[in-house]
Amino acid sequence: MSSSQHQSPTPPALIDLQAEFDRIVGPDNVLADEAGRRAYAHDRLPFANFCERQGRLAGVLPRLVLRPGTADEVQAIVKTARRLGVQLIPYGSGSGVLGGAIPISAEVTVDLRRLGRIVSIDPGDAMVTVQAGMNGAALEAELNAQGYSTGHLPQSIEISTVGGWAACRGGGQASSRYGKIEDIVIGLKAVLPDGTAITVRPLARRATGPSIRDILVGSEGTLGIITELTMRIWKLPEVEHGVVLAFPSVPAALNAAREIMQAELRPMVARIYDSTESRDRTQGMAEFQDRPILAIYVFGGRAPLVAAEQQMAMEICALHGAMEAGPGPYEHWRKNRYVALSTPWQKAGYFSDTIEITGNWTALPAMFEAMGTAARAICPDVHFGAHWSHIYAEGACQYMTVRLPPMEHEKALLLHARLWQAIEDLALDHGGSIAHHHGVGVFRNGWIARELGGALPMLQQIKDVLDPGNLMNPGKLGLRSPEGAVVVGHVNSAPSRQEP
Ligand SMILES: Cc1cc2nc3c(=O)[nH]c(=O)nc-3n(C[C@H](O)[C@H](O)[C@H](O)COP(=O)(O)OP(=O)(O)OC[C@H]3O[C@@H](n4cnc5c(N)ncnc54)[C@H](O)[C@@H]3O)c2cc1C
Repeated sequence: MSSSQHQSPTPPALIDLQAEFDRIVGPDNVLADEAGRRAYAHDRLPFANFCERQGRLAGVLPRLVLRPGTADEVQAIVKTARRLGVQLIPYGSGSGVLGGAIPISAEVTVDLRRLGRIVSIDPGDAMVTVQAGMNGAALEAELNAQGYSTGHLPQSIEISTVGGWAACRGGGQASSRYGKIEDIVIGLKAVLPDGTAITVRPLARRATGPSIRDILVGSEGTLGIITELTMRIWKLPEVEHGVVLAFPSVPAALNAAREIMQAELRPMVARIYDSTESRDRTQGMAEFQDRPILAIYVFGGRAPLVAAEQQMAMEICALHGAMEAGPGPYEHWRKNRYVALSTPWQKAGYFSDTIEITGNWTALPAMFEAMGTAARAICPDVHFGAHWSHIYAEGACQYMTVRLPPMEHEKALLLHARLWQAIEDLALDHGGSIAHHHGVGVFRNGWIARELGGALPMLQQIKDVLDPGNLMNPGKLGLRSPEGAVVVGHVNSAPSRQEP
């Protein structure tokens, strides 16, 4: 077990450092007291929650927390940090579940939420420009009021920022229709680790070399601070139809989803639940007695297109043995779509976590079986449930909930470590990716070498050139940690297996 109990010492230069940053953002926007800093010592990484139940931190306290109100202030912070050799962590809302915002060395955290407003809505070009610290639900509400949506609707929309979405390369619940965040962001502004402010002008597309936008999207705060985003917007759907289906088996439901996407249909939402997750959602429903697998599809857009798309998709589902069922599971999902389902379990002493991976269609059924078998072998009492959402022509995201019952703490951490190890290794063994939309943070560092293979040194070289002092969110995304950094998690520095 490699988490640390130590806290960062108060550095001798703290007072001077505070004065330096006071001058930029004003004293009211520099948090130096322990209570203020403690709120930024964790994100939603479940391992951090487990540590805190034991009265310790997974990482360390940030040295200071800064709350800039403008992009110019962000730039001044970065330049000052570079001059003083201070490490920085960009912070959205701390809803990340991989520890990307957790300090591990002597970082100063930069909370971006005061950059929280819409800059412009441009219906003519179908885009919105928004400051990076704006809350996702607030953005969506303002757009909805004018008849638009970005189409990016993550479960965490109420507790995350748009900058965090882009930094983590996230995916929303309507992604099969509108795409993931990398399809939705078309322009951005950012401050690079040397203090240079860059702009990627919002355009439908360009052929001008590798995409600078895509170097920043998914960089998890390691290559700069995103200050502004321009995103695609769409007219709100004229109609939205939710359909509940009962399938005879998981492979039947997955095959139907594959054929739907390969037929170029684009449901807004597609969710297929394994038998464990289906059972929880269909109790008492006669339709599921012989067909135990639940699928929920939502079709949305212009009425005639929706009708045609839904009809074609239903024909495909029927060929795979599905029958339509009552709307209860759809209504329940809709009501709870932005609720954090694990919170009550954590509060009751369970050790709950989620792991989302990507697999291609031909690999998914065997991968799913292997992961369930491995999880139950590690702990017969584990709750292992999976659903598939974010579907593509090539494959899908498999989203798993692994939950250990209340037990002795050290034993739970050991089992938790083994569950992660087995599931991430099996994702790679089956040709999949270790992460579909939650990112890498610090907790997935142990697998990134195997995930990227020979390309990890290339990523490190990009980091070294842009950030030679390793000052921007160091030690995240599988990149080099600062000397003496705390290791967060079980496997941070111990890659499981090397690629042959
Ligand atoms: C209940 C729950 C449900 C979730 N559901 C989804 C989901 O459906 N889809 C999904 O994609 N994710 C989901 N997540 C994960 C999380 O909400 C996302 O990763 C989210 O995008 C993080 O945003 P944030 O603003 O909270 O970022 P933080 O947690 O504050 O930061 C995350 C990472 O991004 C970096 N970062 C943040 N802002 C910036 C910036 N402006 N510039 C540069 N780097 C920055 C940080 O340094 C850190 O590395 C869920 C999390 C929870 C707790």
